[in-house]
Amino acid sequence: MDAIIVSIGNELTLGQTVDTNSAWLSQQLAAIGGRVRMQATVADELEPIRDLLDRAARAADVVLVSGGIGPTAADLPRHALAAAMGVDLVLHPPSIERIREFFTRRGRVMPEANTVQAMFPAGAAPIENTCGTAPGIRAKLHRADVFVMPGVPREMKEMFTRDVLPALSERSGDAVLLAKTINTYGAGESDVGERIRDLMQRGRNPTVGTTAQQTIIGVRIHAFGPTRDEARRLLDADAAEIRRRLGDLVFGEDDETLAHAVAKRLFETKRTVATAESCTGGLIAKSLTDIPGSSEYFLNGFVTYSNESKTRLIEVPAELILRHGAVSAPVAAAMAGNARRISKSDYAISATGIAGPGGGSPAKPVGLVFFGLSCAEGCDVQERRFGSDMTREEIRDRACKFALNLLRLKLLETAAR
Ligand code: ATP
Ligand code: MG
Repeated sequence: MDAIIVSIGNELTLGQTVDTNSAWLSQQLAAIGGRVRMQATVADELEPIRDLLDRAARAADVVLVSGGIGPTAADLPRHALAAAMGVDLVLHPPSIERIREFFTRRGRVMPEANTVQAMFPAGAAPIENTCGTAPGIRAKLHRADVFVMPGVPREMKEMFTRDVLPALSERSGDAVLLAKTINTYGAGESDVGERIRDLMQRGRNPTVGTTAQQTIIGVRIHAFGPTRDEARRLLDADAAEIRRRLGDLVFGEDDETLAHAVAKRLFETKRTVATAESCTGGLIAKSLTDIPGSSEYFLNGFVTYSNESKTRLIEVPAELILRHGAVSAPVAAAMAGNARRISKSDYAISATGIAGPGGGSPAKPVGLVFFGLSCAEGCDVQERRFGSDMTREEIRDRACKFALNLLRLKLLETAAR
């Protein structure tokens, strides 16, 4: 099943609204084994829409259109579709009744302009809209089934799921494309790619590829199968092999973050954590508490930004700061150790560094961060240089991930013992 996705609206071509409908529809199609050949965005103008629909319906089995089924003169897809089909628009009486009822239920009288929303190209059929006024349009044009849906994402999704998807699933039989991402941290993209090179060969099923997003390397697997079970079997087999090869680099799947991985382990082992942060300004604590239920394992976070607060709140000796500087291994160790003692937590993580853009020196450049991880067995300290070419935001983000990963590895190590 070849598909083309068409988004309509000046808002989109002007860049005022980002086209999220196409991305969502593409994902939905992929899930039922559809191949999206093209996504096209077109302004509210009759001829360009007509020409695009005409070409798309010759090139694909399915054309999914969103936007422009409102009642205004700028809403042109129904006119464009009729023109491409070489037919007139005709009134569909049951639809006009439904639209009128929609207004009545809200205590209003239907404006005359809305009549057009009950008009369809001859031979086309309405698609019920359960959360807005305008019905969608289903029509046959050249080789394609064309579906025109509302632009409002919520209405579009509802209509797609309720009516369009079942129609498409019938077309595509049982074939499905299933996807999964294995998330890794701790190695670069080429390094990860090297370890799974044979699985990434072109033309293979499943297809395997890597994506890099702010130091998280994802391995995406797409498995195509004649049935859901077969696709699932292929997907699971590759996922297991990839996990085996990448070992401890793997921290989760799909939407799981490093914080999720840490939270899960802490939760399972009934352990608690506290944080002491300087350059990350609370980001680590935020990440840990983004997860519902975090009160089970997160006790408290200290944001000790100034030297004085490091001494007053978590008892880092002023003399230590004076001797080594606030950005130093001994201070990172003291921050973690004291935070753990004061909080009475099982673990404490600390970060102290130079997020920039100012404040760096040859000895201590922007991007230098020290981390401490304190637990019953003692305190580990790590030094990282994230690179002075990075923005403040990047350095803080990377420092946060590095800290979470330190704790993740420690928890894995403890579990293995
Ligand atoms: P209405 O009756 O509300 O005018 P419509 O079907 O004509 O419905 P549009 O006018 O094209 O829809 O879009 C309505 C709103 O939906 C837009 O203002 C925009 O916020 C959102 N929208 C439209 N198309 C998209 C898209 N492709 N991606 C994300 N949002 C969109
Ligand atoms: Mg509109």
